[in-house]
Amino acid sequence: MTDAEIIDGNAVAGEIRDGLSGAIETLADAGARPGLATVLMGDDPASQTYVNMKQRDCEEVGIDGTHVDVDGDAPAEELYETLEELNADSDVHGYLVQNPVPDHIDYREVIRRIDPAKDVDGFHPENVGRLVAGDARFRPCTPHGVQKLLEAYDIETEGADVTIVGRSQIVGKPLANLLLQKADDGNATVTVCHSRTEELAAKTRNADIVVAAVGVPELVDGSMLAPGTVVIDVGVNRVEADTEKGYELVGDVDFESAREVASAITPVPGGVGPMTRAMLLYNTVRAASEQTGVDVALP
Ligand code: NDP
Repeated sequence: MTDAEIIDGNAVAGEIRDGLSGAIETLADAGARPGLATVLMGDDPASQTYVNMKQRDCEEVGIDGTHVDVDGDAPAEELYETLEELNADSDVHGYLVQNPVPDHIDYREVIRRIDPAKDVDGFHPENVGRLVAGDARFRPCTPHGVQKLLEAYDIETEGADVTIVGRSQIVGKPLANLLLQKADDGNATVTVCHSRTEELAAKTRNADIVVAAVGVPELVDGSMLAPGTVVIDVGVNRVEADTEKGYELVGDVDFESAREVASAITPVPGGVGPMTRAMLLYNTVRAASEQTGVDVALP
């Protein structure tokens, strides 16, 4: 029985935010201040919490945060007008539309209307294409955060067998592409699993690194891991619990059984989540640098 090292996402995210402060100072010296806008259509409480957190993060590091609310019942054209305004606003270097959007809105069309140079989530088809081609502009925040965590803990991906559980557009697929790149933070042999995968445990047991991005509480447990595996838990699930709020957050990994087998593991919360937030700030600073022509050193 081992006791896995706990990968501290808060600490690594803090280092990245500190590194970004230097870049933001460089921009300030040149008279520029990075700007990030968040757009929320409707009043979903979880989405409101997420955009509030993003705005607070901006304030803390010195990014100009602006927020636009769009009525949840408004026609798509009203949202599109907002996007056009943001595309044209030179003070806004990056922006995102919080998902989920209301049912009558086609999220893919929304993404297509974002200026790819301002698409700090990295979801626009042009940015997805560039990432797959090995010429990424904005790496999507969660996969990029996972890469930075691995790097911070000197966990080599080169030659490693990585099993990713989940093939979503925002986590599984871009992470698979990034780890596959012929690059120092890639060069892995990647297996991507999903709901139709047979014998999932055989795939996770074969891996040096397992990334769980499923949305199923505690799907991956210790019995599915080989001794010494590195476990990255992307999942954030609310499950009923006897707490003040009536719920607690758990990952897609059964932390207690996995930590006995793994060599290193991310907790939930405090693992991947803070990294996702930090990498959004990173992409915003990068966007500001590109749009203002002021070179900065990114962490
Ligand atoms: P999606 O629902 O978009 O994708 C889930 C993926 O898991 C799909 O590919 C699905 O397969 C697969 N899947 C579902 N059930 C199983 C199963 N039983 N066995 C194997 N694969 C399965 O989720 P996201 O990628 O958006 O998010 C995943 C998790 O990560 C969620 O808990 C989410 O809250 C969290 N998250 C956390 C972030 C963070 O910053 N920490 C950021 C983003 C997400 P199929 O494609 O066949 O349907």
